[in-house]
Amino acid sequence: MTPTHLVVDPATEEPVAEVSLTSGDDTDAAIERACVAFQTWRAVAPADRGRLLRRFAAAVDGAREELAMLEVRGAGHPIVSARWEAGNVRDVLDYYSAAPERLFGRQIPVAAGVSVTFKEPLGVVAVIVPWNFPMPILGWGVAPALAAGNTVVVKPAERTPLTAVRIGELALEAGLPADVLTVLPGKGSVVGERFVSHPAVRKICFTGSTEVGTRIMAAAADQVKRVTLELGGKSANIVFADSDLEQAAATAPEGVFDNAGQDCCARSRILVEHSVYDRFLELLAPAVERVQVGAPVEESTQMGPLISAGQRASVRSYVEGDGVDVAIRGSAPDGPGYWYPPTVVLPGSVTDRVWREEVFGPVVCVLPFTDEADAVSKANDSAYGLAGSIWTRDVGRALRVARGVDAGNLSVNSHASVRYSTPFGGFKASGLGRELGPDALDSFTDVKSVFISTGGEGHAGQA
Ligand code: NAD
Repeated sequence: MTPTHLVVDPATEEPVAEVSLTSGDDTDAAIERACVAFQTWRAVAPADRGRLLRRFAAAVDGAREELAMLEVRGAGHPIVSARWEAGNVRDVLDYYSAAPERLFGRQIPVAAGVSVTFKEPLGVVAVIVPWNFPMPILGWGVAPALAAGNTVVVKPAERTPLTAVRIGELALEAGLPADVLTVLPGKGSVVGERFVSHPAVRKICFTGSTEVGTRIMAAAADQVKRVTLELGGKSANIVFADSDLEQAAATAPEGVFDNAGQDCCARSRILVEHSVYDRFLELLAPAVERVQVGAPVEESTQMGPLISAGQRASVRSYVEGDGVDVAIRGSAPDGPGYWYPPTVVLPGSVTDRVWREEVFGPVVCVLPFTDEADAVSKANDSAYGLAGSIWTRDVGRALRVARGVDAGNLSVNSHASVRYSTPFGGFKASGLGRELGPDALDSFTDVKSVFISTGGEGHAGQA
């Protein structure tokens, strides 16, 4: 009998759907079909490939509400966020639909001929997706990989396969040839590991925990397989005394409690200049208490439940231990569902576990700093380096601190980390490589250099 996974609504604990888990043999067969399809997909004329991606984007747009509702029920995302996430898949497909006709190589001056470069697709690309943002993270891997001429196999997270399966169907409905994009729900230890070990898979695009990412990178070395890794984070939100303090405090919750804090970019360490520390906490309390936590299907809901009982137990272990100083606690529904209230903790020192480790829940720590150098040093005192925010009215300081913080995505007087047109990725243990933006295509292609002799000696190379 085929093993299955029961998808559970995290807000009600009710069953939503039973999904078959792909076996190792079926994974191999899908990879081999993707390998065959690669030969025809790479040969599709660039304009036609672009057109097909635009049709795929339109199909996603047409199904936006359906996809959003699947994420509401299958992952507990608030409906307003889930609509944005489906729209993000559409936007990323639209953005990269322009790429096939703009995948430029170069002509490089050389003697006695012409040297040109081509950006060749890699072959079969595998995208491994976590449960926290099932739709956007799938889109960030799939869209540039397909645009560059690769075929793609996708493994959604065990808990959240529903939107990925539907997006795979939409690709076929939009006219993408069979086996160009294949979605394979299943276990990391089965499907994910086959992706890593199968020689026909030429690249792994992984988003998830630093622990699994590290193992994938080590295993990929055996076949010199390319990897892009988007891993964890423990990002700092640095608030200077000269900032618009009301605005900094009012927006701090959205910087960390989005998706119930299950966000690798969550600004989960707030650093506040000591002279305004007490005032900031006074302003933060009503902002945290105002966060609307409730049924994801309600339009007014800002924060839903955690993904699972296990995740909630893990979050609790950071807050409900001995000696943890909880300064502010928001609200959360009672009854069924994996609820946890927005919580503000005042750590005793920078060695506290809640300050150092990624909680991946609605928990934020606040700590004072003395001056600019202390703020940068505390922000950088982390294994991670994914994102961060800087609140100040001093433009020079904003730039100095942005350059000083070791993280891939910084925002000044804002908490926005992700735009499909700009690069996204981490420093240090937060990852390797960049997704999104104009350069993402480079990591889905290999550069080929071709020399064409024009005869004669010593010619500079301009044909
Ligand atoms: P996870 O690492 O457990 O799983 C991620 C994916 O990898 C899942 O699809 C899982 O099935 C698969 N997997 C597990 N073991 C595998 C193996 N041995 N081989 C191949 N695939 C395997 O992470 P998670 O619990 O699903 O997600 C939470 C983590 O993801 C957090 O640490 C978070 O910070 C991180 N994350 C990072 C980003 C980013 O962009 N940097 C984005 C989202 C999530």
